[in-house]
Order: sequence, then structure tokens, then C-alpha cells
Amino acid sequence: MYRSHTCGELRIENVNEIVKLCGWVQRIRLMGGMTFVDLRDRYGITQLVFNIAKNKDLCEMTQFLGREFVIQVEGKVIERSSKNPDLPTGDIEMDVETLNILNPSEVPPFTIKDETDGGEELRMKYRYLDLRRTPLQKALELRHKMSQETRKYLNEKHFLDIETPFLIRSTPEGARDFVVPSRAGEGKFYALPQSPQLFKQLLMVAGYDKYYQIVRCFRDEDLRADRQPEFTQIDCEMSFVEQEDILQTFEGLAKHLFKTVRNIEFEKPFLRMSYAEAMEFYGSDKPDLRFDMRFTNITDLVKGKNFKVFDESEYIGAICVKNISEYSRKQIDELTEWVKRPQIGAKGLVYVKFSPNTSGIKSSVDKFYSADELKIWAEKCNAQEQDTLLILCGEKEKTLVALGELRLEMAKRLGLRDSKTFFPLWVLDFPLLEWDAENQRFQAKHHPFTSPHKEDFSLLDSNPAEVRANAYDLVINGTEIGGGSIRIHNSELQKKMFNVLGFSQEEAEKQFGFLLNAFKFGAPPHGGIAFGFDRWTAIFNESESIRDVMAFPKNNAGRDMMLDTPAPISQQQINELHIRCV
Ligand code: ASP
Repeated sequence: MYRSHTCGELRIENVNEIVKLCGWVQRIRLMGGMTFVDLRDRYGITQLVFNIAKNKDLCEMTQFLGREFVIQVEGKVIERSSKNPDLPTGDIEMDVETLNILNPSEVPPFTIKDETDGGEELRMKYRYLDLRRTPLQKALELRHKMSQETRKYLNEKHFLDIETPFLIRSTPEGARDFVVPSRAGEGKFYALPQSPQLFKQLLMVAGYDKYYQIVRCFRDEDLRADRQPEFTQIDCEMSFVEQEDILQTFEGLAKHLFKTVRNIEFEKPFLRMSYAEAMEFYGSDKPDLRFDMRFTNITDLVKGKNFKVFDESEYIGAICVKNISEYSRKQIDELTEWVKRPQIGAKGLVYVKFSPNTSGIKSSVDKFYSADELKIWAEKCNAQEQDTLLILCGEKEKTLVALGELRLEMAKRLGLRDSKTFFPLWVLDFPLLEWDAENQRFQAKHHPFTSPHKEDFSLLDSNPAEVRANAYDLVINGTEIGGGSIRIHNSELQKKMFNVLGFSQEEAEKQFGFLLNAFKFGAPPHGGIAFGFDRWTAIFNESESIRDVMAFPKNNAGRDMMLDTPAPISQQQINELHIRCV
């Protein structure tokens, strides 16, 4: 037996027991005639003591120990004279009687502690060492708990966990496919699934009315912040359901995870908001509602007073920011520069400060508007003393998005984006289609299998942009953590949808013939949802990045630093795959 206990296990009750431990050397301290070693495994740390007066040879052996050596020790549990209240094992230590070095270690390239000195690239290169650190261990434990609790909840509701293939044909989720050349099918390729979308729908046709899978998906996206080329979804589908059934089932899952993983109880139903409302008042389809700063449309109120900038704008919107009326000129100027950055794209920033200390109301448009007029703005925006209105104007859609960014930035500066507070909500009624200006055609906003609202069917021909979808997203703290839709289950409607999306009949037949065909054999009404498992775990772990909750992530450029890949393959492999690299 290598060990009788783990390094996180021994307590005062174990005093006088002879025990065996194994682990990694975290720290060695020589103090007079004693050597203290902190022994670490994933369960915790236990202090070992070697006493020169008792056993000189043994104590001298500790000179050969170094950080991250793997050792086995046997000895007696004794009470510590100076206890460490910060350590669960801090009341005891082990008086070592035998020491066995199981494997030495080179000096690690960074310190393996909660606060490490290693840069991210270095830590990724030696990920197995990074993973020894407690914050990463805790993150992977939390991830494990999330997946176990997800399974528990869905299993109880009679969902079946069914695997679907990885070597498939392309699935249209809006990103590029990773492709796999096939040796046997000369010059032909598999695609890795962007999601199991088509398979889960086929499972519904097959009668497996509740399906789930915690499954890897692959998307060859331009690597924007915090995306990974491979990531995990909690993928689900149900038959004989309407949107309401899906929302209730998965709100239940969310509440279960909040309760079991974070010990937070949501008694009331989650807030629901339409896409149109989210855009109009928060400038985002994933509003962060941990704080207010809802937009007020002041277009009608402020136009026609000879202020050209406003008069020429389609839309003028304000956010009311609490307690910043003491912002200096310099701070406002800096904020103005911030909104003018190309990523935000505003032309300028108008402010109105309601300050108790200075002359009362102060604004950048004093020349055009009287104090009384500004007071009316304040009323409309619910601004009180000490508040400041920040106003952007221009073309409506762009201005809403810019205001949305400004709202998030102000919340960040004011410390309102607290990772320990959670605000979940459903965003509903997304548009079915969005205009792709580059290719001059409509694209599915969610994916081509999403059903339109019944009431909007007739608009499909006359005004496709206005058609609402039976699609929904679950948003937590400004992050979309899941989304899905009620699907089309009628082959004629599905054909029509492909047609609206600009697929010729042959193309649709070629790419999705199997689905259109399946729909002819008794497809039940169905719908589903998929959650970004890494992202959800990161939010629960209060991590900035999904990399923090993945055992072996890739870096921001999609490289695996440890395996040093993507990497070339041999000419022989290339030949076998019938490929030529240029
Ligand atoms: N397949 C969709 C996605 O990956 C989710 C769904 O519609 O269920 O985004």
C-alpha cells in the first residue's frame, strides 16, 4: 500500500496513529535541528517533521530533497506545538520515521503556488505543472461537479445520454469547419461537428424524445477573445414540446446548478426579455443586468433646438450614471476619447452633470439648452443629484450598440461587474434572419433549422427581416451561456427556409437531403438548446477566461503550446491522404 491517507485528511483525532503519505515536496525549511517539509497532493498539504536528535541519518537524507520530488513517508501523527489555522491539517504534523524518494524532479520552471511567477505561455507549455496548482485543481473539481449535477438533473427527467459521431459532414452553425481528409475516400473530407445539431434532430425523428450529451464541438472561428477551437456543450433536444416547455425544463437545470454548485437559490422565475427590448434598452442581445443604466430615448425631447449634431441624428440616447457628477474635465475628456475609439465608433459624447457642489447643472451643451430644459431631461432619465447623463447620438442601430459598450465600460469602472453576483435571464424572439451585406443575402440568425413564429409566417415572403424566430438564449451576467430554438419539423417549410437563405434546390438536397428525407417519415414537433459548458463553468468559477476551466486549452492563436501543434505531418502521410500542400 503506497499510502494510508491523503495529504488533506489527517486531523487531531489521528494523533498517535502510524500513517503513510505520498505526494510532492512543496517546501523545505531547515530550522536548527529540525527539517520541515510541506507535502502536497490534490487533497491538501501535510507538514512533515524530521528531527535530527531522533534520527540523524534520516534528517540528513532531506538534504537531497528538492521542490516537486515525489516521496513516500511513514511516521506518527503528532500534535503541532504551533498550529496553523489556515490549513485544515494545521493542528498536526507527521514525525517521519521512513522516507522513500519515489522520483526526483528537476527544478520546475515556475513556482507551483496559488500565486505563481510563471507567464501564461510558459504555464501552458508545462500545463501538467500548472495543473498542480490549487486554483486549477479547484476549477477542474468545479467542472466535474457541474457535469455530474447536469447529468443528475437530466437523468432524473428521463433524458438519454446518446453519443453522436465526430467524423461527419459539415453542420451549419455559422463558423468554418475543421476538416479531416479521408485516406480511403480519395480527395474527400470529413468535417468535425460544430454541434450535433442534425443528429439530435434525427434522434427526435427516431423517437428518442429526450436527448442530451456533454459533447465536444469544433469551430474554426477567427480567434476572438476567449474562444477555443474545441469546446464543450451541454447539448439537449426534446420532442412534443413548445418553447415554454424548453424554458421551464432548462431554467430548472440552471437553478439546480446554481443551488448545488454555488449554493444560490433563485426562487422567482428568471426574467424574460425580447430581443427587441434588449437591443432598445441595453444595446446588446445579452444584457448584463447586475446593474441598471437602462437607456432612455431622448430623441424627441432634444431635437429642434438648433443643436446640429442632435438635429441630424436618427437617434439620441442617454444613460444615467450614478455618483459620477464629480468627474473632472479630464475624466470626461478621457471618456470622450474612449467612445471615439474605432471599436466603439461614436462621434462624441455629450454629458449633463447634476452636481450638488458646483454650480448645479453642468453640461457640454449649455449653449443650446437652458437649465430648465436640462432638468426635463433629468426627469425623463430619472437622474438625481450627483448623477450624470452620458449621451450618444447618430444612426440608431450603431448608437444603441455604442451606448451598450459605454454602459458596460462605466459598470466596469464603477466596480459593478461583481463576479459573485449572478443575474440570469432569457432573451426571446430573436429575428429569424439577418442580412449579410457582403454576400447580399439573408443568413439564419440562429441556424437554418429554427422555426419562425407562426404569426410571422406570411412575412417570410414579403418582409423576411421582420420574421421572429422561436429562438431563445440564456444569459448570465452579460454572457450568452446557452441558446436554442423550436425547430422546423415539416419538410416543405424546411425547403422554403433553405430557399429564403439562398440555397438552390439542388444545393439543399445535396447538403441536407438526409434531413429533408427524414422529415417525410413522421418527424415529431421538437426543439432544443445547447449550453456552452466551459463558459458556464468559468462564470461559476469566477474566472476571466474559459482557459482557466479547461485541463488542456489552446492559446489565443489556437496553438497547443505543450504539443506544439498545429504541426507539419510527414510527406508519406500527406501522400496517403491524396493532398498537396501549397
Ligand atoms: N446547435 C445549436 C448551437 O450549437 C444549439 C441548438 O440550437 O440547440 O448553437
